[in-house]
Amino acid sequence: MRIPGALLTLMLCSMALAAPAPVVRNRAPFPPNAFYMLPLGAVKPEGWLKRQLQIQAAGLSGHIDEFWPSLTPDSGWLGGTGESWERGPYYMDGLVPLAFLLDDARLKAKAGKWVRWTLENQRADGAIGPEKNKDWWPIMVMLKVLTEYQEATGDARVVPLMEKYFAHQLASLEKQPLDKWAIYRWPDEALSVAWLYNRTGDRRLLDLARLLSKQGYNWRAQFEDFQFRGKAQKGETALKTHVVNNAMALKTSAIWWLFSRDAADRRAALGQLEVMDRFHLLPNGVHAGDEHYAGRSPSQGTELCAVVEGMFSVEHMIAILGDAALGDRLEKMAFNPLPGACSGDMWSHQYDQQPNQVLCTLAKRDWTTNGDESNLFGLEPNYGCCTANFHQGWPKFAASLWMATAGDGLAAMAYAPSRVAARVAGGVDVELVEQTEYPFRDNIGITVNPSATAKFPIDLRVPGWATEARIALNGKAVAGVRAGTFHRIERRWMKGDRIELVFPMKVRVSRWHQDSAAIDRGPLVYSLRIGEDWRKLRDKAPAADWEIYPSTPWNYALDIDMANPEASVEVVEKPVGDTPFSSQGAPVELRVKGRRLEKWTLVNNSAGPLPPSPVASPAPLETLTLIPYGSAKLRVTAFPWLAR
Ligand SMILES: [Zn+2]
Repeated sequence: MRIPGALLTLMLCSMALAAPAPVVRNRAPFPPNAFYMLPLGAVKPEGWLKRQLQIQAAGLSGHIDEFWPSLTPDSGWLGGTGESWERGPYYMDGLVPLAFLLDDARLKAKAGKWVRWTLENQRADGAIGPEKNKDWWPIMVMLKVLTEYQEATGDARVVPLMEKYFAHQLASLEKQPLDKWAIYRWPDEALSVAWLYNRTGDRRLLDLARLLSKQGYNWRAQFEDFQFRGKAQKGETALKTHVVNNAMALKTSAIWWLFSRDAADRRAALGQLEVMDRFHLLPNGVHAGDEHYAGRSPSQGTELCAVVEGMFSVEHMIAILGDAALGDRLEKMAFNPLPGACSGDMWSHQYDQQPNQVLCTLAKRDWTTNGDESNLFGLEPNYGCCTANFHQGWPKFAASLWMATAGDGLAAMAYAPSRVAARVAGGVDVELVEQTEYPFRDNIGITVNPSATAKFPIDLRVPGWATEARIALNGKAVAGVRAGTFHRIERRWMKGDRIELVFPMKVRVSRWHQDSAAIDRGPLVYSLRIGEDWRKLRDKAPAADWEIYPSTPWNYALDIDMANPEASVEVVEKPVGDTPFSSQGAPVELRVKGRRLEKWTLVNNSAGPLPPSPVASPAPLETLTLIPYGSAKLRVTAFPWLAR
């Protein structure tokens, strides 16, 4: 049979579209990663996660460029004379993955317009971006955007544009060295340099990376002799104590290890995280910084940019280093502080969120440096960086749920409803369908659909807290499952093979500032549900700034058996509805007992210093309801607890 040429072209095109884009692995001299990111678009959200991305698309992310002056058509990144620094690239860094993960034509058209301007306006010397921008830093963000766009679209202009830009930068850096933010954020560019090197093998890129490292800040040295062991004091704050810089810097030594091949760099990556945890970790899973190092009091805050940048750092750390505990960390950040700083409809967000957040108002608080707007839910409370930058959080998390294994299989890094299409086992296309309401439920089902029977590994992360984890394959229990590891199943997979995971979620207590207690169950941390009275402070149609006043008391101490918290907590499951990250839509409630603690009061408009536990109270015993941190916009997360 003769097939007409046009039809043949059409058939080949549709076949080409159906085949997953290849995974690009590390090229020598880089050592191999533990795992590799799949090209953007390989993982698609399903179930509640897809709804969450749709909420985001229907909220600020899908509309902010229609009315926010920093992103209106006057932007320098669209050829205008307006904002020409970081905001356009920040927005694209979230909008591009959001558009392609949802396969949303409207958002793809928006994102395409911005990216095309950069692609079509490279200057003769290789420079990119608005002419009036003289700062290397915002271009570092745009480079990330370009790599995402290339993966999602296969646009053939991206690689040559980046080659020419990097050659220009290599030739210019001696005369125009890294400055200000770029000095501290150079590892983000190193990531894009590595991305391009893996595709072209041009060794001048290795020279460029060495120059960036030489001109850039030495984060490893800061953490090998760490001086900032509490809340930064006046006169101490600098770009090296800035929480967003620190969140971005978490990945420094992992990335730099690819270039240096020095085992000490590899070790330093986890060492840096440990140091940050020891002095600045909060019970919601992020480091305190409002917006400089802020210590461990749960009334201090964390800037939203630090949450999304911290997630991005951890996504790359887990790919390079392969430590299962980093997956626990990623889930904790994605499921708690990310939704915790955004309203349920994602039309407003906070600059600083607090684990103990009992009043969100325009008022003075004990931030290290931030202003009086910082914990409002609004359009651009305090400063507009988070307004431009928070969009990357959910989409990049969704895109990182699955990665490729070094052995040409697939690995589950974090869990949420999704499907992934990838090429495995040297050329077999496979789709995995993950059905679950995790993290609100403890069971996950994965159906494996290879295009042909093929042998390849599937690595399943078993969370560190899942000490009674069970895995079954086609109904038969799998042996040797251990918490805190990747469990590998390597076999000849057939269409319809089914993996069932159960991660029993026991109630756990962790100890924090002043010996306070936080309640975790699975990857979720639970907070006191406080009645929320939302009052519109300013109309910024179609957005608004909101204050939230508590309509119920918050100053409780828990009456729990610290050694056996399961005995003190009743778990009530509710349907996982359309807005799980809202107080009324919380899909899980925990019932616990507690007593009011009259001496624990507001101080400077935040929950006052935590009374050291154990505490005593003559108040009557009450039943309290805890809900997921991300659902509670007012909340107490670090509780005093009663002597028994
Ligand atoms: Zn910010």
